[in-house]
Amino acid sequence: MNHPENHDQYKGLTVNAGIEQPASVNPYFKRIPRKTLRPVSDYVEGILKGDITMLSQAVTLVESMRQDHQQVAQEVIEKCLPYSGNSVRVGISGVPGAGKSTSIDVFGLHILERSAGKLAVLAIDPSSERSKGSILGDKTRMEQLSVHPDSFIRPSPSAGSLGGVARKTRETIILCEAAGFDKIFVETVGVGQSETAVHSMVDFFLLIQLAGTGDELQGIKRGIMEMADGIVINKADGSNIDKAKLAAAQFSNALHLFPAPESGWTPQVLTYSGFYNIGVKEIWDMIYRYIEFVKGNGYFELRRNQQSKYWMYESINDQLRESFYNNPLIEGLLPDMEQQVLQRNQTSFVVARKLLDAYFEQMRSVENR
Ligand code: GDP
Repeated sequence: MNHPENHDQYKGLTVNAGIEQPASVNPYFKRIPRKTLRPVSDYVEGILKGDITMLSQAVTLVESMRQDHQQVAQEVIEKCLPYSGNSVRVGISGVPGAGKSTSIDVFGLHILERSAGKLAVLAIDPSSERSKGSILGDKTRMEQLSVHPDSFIRPSPSAGSLGGVARKTRETIILCEAAGFDKIFVETVGVGQSETAVHSMVDFFLLIQLAGTGDELQGIKRGIMEMADGIVINKADGSNIDKAKLAAAQFSNALHLFPAPESGWTPQVLTYSGFYNIGVKEIWDMIYRYIEFVKGNGYFELRRNQQSKYWMYESINDQLRESFYNNPLIEGLLPDMEQQVLQRNQTSFVVARKLLDAYFEQMRSVENR
């Protein structure tokens, strides 16, 4: 072969003729056209038929920051609203490693076997904003559920503030319910504020705890315990059983010191093992007992109404804040105003007032135009 290195002056190996190099782009690759927005009615009809692809696409629109996506999403939500609400919504929280994904896999299979219906697993992950892409609710973490025909697993929306992310999850609940999902899990990492967000959209708030240190109650915030309708101590298996029982007793005692919850329900503490599927049935017996109890005394309706009200105000607050901070006039004024405060030329309150006046003034002039 006529290759420069096959010349006599080189004593090394002979260079063979190579093969023709394949193209760097797969010739069978077809460029997938960018999905065009469908009419609102397509999404709504698909969702009401229980079409998972349509549901997923609609959820993607709910999560999108694009104005045109949001507009379609909001219309879809509005049309689905009359078909929503008919479900049991359970919030599941616990620190990383508490066993949430293992447990949700087992809980999910248990309730799908126990009664007909469909389960959606959603998530609120406050860290997803930082990590750019959420792991919480990731399908691979729930091996059995993820391949179950009656389940729908959706990771946490990843963009925006906790309030924004939570709002999207709440909107996704509406779509899932309209698609016939009558059991909804909302998972969150137990790190503080995200529990409040989850608590504000579920009927039952389940807190997963671990035994071990003997000071179980130390690290856990009182506010979070007060939100719990049930506390479950996971990993009650092997040599851990006694420790789990002790932890359960400590939690029970601590709960008695709190004021009686508005629901009239006494939060219960149970031990279980998600891994070995021990005590899982009892947890679901407890949750169903609770639902029956609060449906009987009217608290179920009351809590849902309170939540709707909460989300109305959250939505207003969010949108006002966004409109204010994204306003170009305010964006231009803010750095200087901040300096004024830092240099003590003006007080925080005066500066805040001035900025708000400037904002409202501009809003009015836009309106009068
Ligand atoms: P998450 O971070 O809260 O979702 O927790 P994972 O479900 O990923 O579980 C964390 C670790 O605890 C994994 O290594 C699991 O195998 C283990 N684990 C989960 N549930 C149990 C259980 O009931 N018993 C025992 N011994 N280990 C468990």
